[in-house]
Amino acid sequence: MPQDVLRRVWGFADFRPGQSEIVQAVAEGRDVLAIMPTGGGKSLCYQLPALLRDGVTVVISPLIALMRDQVRALREAGVPAGALTSGNTEDETREVFEALSNGALKILYMAPERLAAGGTLPLLRRAGVTAIAVDEAHCVSQWGHDFRPDYLRVGELKRALGVPLAAFTATADAETRDEIVARLFDGRAPEIFLRGFDRPNIHLAFQPKDGPRRQIMDFVAARRGQPGIIYCATRAKTETLAAALDQAGIAAIAYHGGMEADARREVEARFQRDDGLVVAATVAFGMGIDKPDIRWVAHADLPKSIESYYQEIGRAGRDGAPAETLTLFGPDDIRLRRTQIDEGLAPPDRKQADHARLNALLGLAEATACRRQVLLSYFGEVAAPCGNCDLCDTPPDIFDATQEVRMALSAILRTGERFGGGHVIDVLIGQATDRTAQHGHDALPTYGVGKATPKAQWQAIIRQMLGRDLIRPDPERHGALRITEAAHPVLRGEVPVLLRRDLVRRAKPATVVRTQVDDEDAPLLSALKAKRRALAEAQRVPAYVIFPDRTLIEMAQARPQTLDAMARVNGVGARKLESYGAAFLQVIAGEVPPMHPARRALAGRESGDLYDRLAATARQLARGEDGTAKPLSLTPSALKRIAQDRPGDLSRYLDQARLERFGTAFRAEIDGS
Ligand code: ADP
Ligand code: ZN
Repeated sequence: MPQDVLRRVWGFADFRPGQSEIVQAVAEGRDVLAIMPTGGGKSLCYQLPALLRDGVTVVISPLIALMRDQVRALREAGVPAGALTSGNTEDETREVFEALSNGALKILYMAPERLAAGGTLPLLRRAGVTAIAVDEAHCVSQWGHDFRPDYLRVGELKRALGVPLAAFTATADAETRDEIVARLFDGRAPEIFLRGFDRPNIHLAFQPKDGPRRQIMDFVAARRGQPGIIYCATRAKTETLAAALDQAGIAAIAYHGGMEADARREVEARFQRDDGLVVAATVAFGMGIDKPDIRWVAHADLPKSIESYYQEIGRAGRDGAPAETLTLFGPDDIRLRRTQIDEGLAPPDRKQADHARLNALLGLAEATACRRQVLLSYFGEVAAPCGNCDLCDTPPDIFDATQEVRMALSAILRTGERFGGGHVIDVLIGQATDRTAQHGHDALPTYGVGKATPKAQWQAIIRQMLGRDLIRPDPERHGALRITEAAHPVLRGEVPVLLRRDLVRRAKPATVVRTQVDDEDAPLLSALKAKRRALAEAQRVPAYVIFPDRTLIEMAQARPQTLDAMARVNGVGARKLESYGAAFLQVIAGEVPPMHPARRALAGRESGDLYDRLAATARQLARGEDGTAKPLSLTPSALKRIAQDRPGDLSRYLDQARLERFGTAFRAEIDGS
């Protein structure tokens, strides 16, 4: 049953991992807390059960723009949904009230602020609300960064209505989880579903900075026309990068917290609607973005922790189609992030934890094997090599750098842990400078011990040592390198250090243009996208509301020639087939004869085939076995009912004359299929 609705309304062939259990539990009216990664398909887990249950499901969601898009998408799929938010026009609100009192609504989105208003509870009571769903449930956590005080009222609402509640979030550590349980469920444990963190469709890649502007420009140019985000560490950089891209003929805009609220909203709205815009942004860009078809995320600078990294790259590819990421990093980033932690106001144990989170990210940046394994292991998951990261694509060249690392550590120690990487390298390669002379470092035993190794390689070694937290910039001494606890076993010769050599080489510019499909399907995909854009603009909805990329890609590859074949493409539900099937089919197959609506309702299903056979039989027998009888025919809707129900007894479907004429032959078709 849920599977049928999934097919008919959403046009999806299967549930994503984890979805079906949650749908089941929510449909049965159990209390549920589901933790799923972004893009895991949370919305469906409360939307689909809402259709299976009597009455209205009210959905509490923190962001108005997202609610409006969700409602649009639902309506496109033929689901009666509405929203009550401060963004509504009076007409819209009136319409929702009317639908509620007529019992014509299944899903009602509501901003949490609305719960504070006096009339809300009676309204929901009258409307016959039978379930509550809470999106972004971590907003109830006072310690989280997204705390929304009005979320605290959701628990009261559940109590007052006495209905089951399903809470959803992508981010919940154990403490947040407990807080959600305590505040939303009155402390009575709900059924908890924890879906893994893996996002297998996201390609992971890191590169050390080596002409970072060029690296980013190449990456973006190779993905021209695909929407993406470039995260930058500073506001200034968002602007210079956006300008540079624009100059290179790539539509790009900047976004940061220093912009006026209106201007920010405008960027968000444009990005949401457009299907090819690039936004160069600080991390302020994200919370308000619910765009499932972001094709790539690049980090022009290293994020602040492994959690931030995961969250930021996680904005790509929520529709499940392939998405790519690139994260640049260099010694300056490491220094900047360390300094930010050290100079922050957090208590010491918190600072230590922040350093550890940064270390985890650096470990990922300097990984020597599959990045996904490293990333998932941080979240406590064990995985096989993924085949979808840069290190799986091209295994790195590893060398035993124990000797070099010990030389560097010794040079740092002998110069009193008072200098930065540049000077340490000068000492190692025996480069005479004013400073080496002034401090007498040219007389040290380590002076020149590393001359066999080129300077560029020393830079890579120092960076990797920073990445492994063997050395750290000292905040009290302007970033002079200090040796950490972790370096002691290396100095004592107890553990070897393996480093990557390939990072020393110049990163190859990515000249290959990345396309979403093979060359032969690319022109068709563009044509389908153009059709989608035209439809989206005409209806003033985001492109993905018509069809997500993934569906268009499948269309371009499968090239359906009939509405039946079109109905079998993932993402083409009954309602969308009706609204758009013919338009897209025309792009692929040219003019195709129209299909009667009754037949179209069965498109792509077995009952569609049966309909065709029954119709053919009826045509053959129109004038009886011998072709001389009085003509009799059946309406398409009568045929549809029979094909759909496959009745054991046809007498309730056919009058006496038709039963006599068609009964036996129909029986044979029904039983034979
Ligand atoms: P999130 O968990 O981040 O809220 P969404 O609910 O927005 O994710 O879903 C992300 C995307 O995945 C949407 O485009 C949605 O249509 C798609 N999706 C969800 N479930 C399925 C499924 N079973 N099959 C195919 N696509 C799905
Ligand atoms: Zn991998």
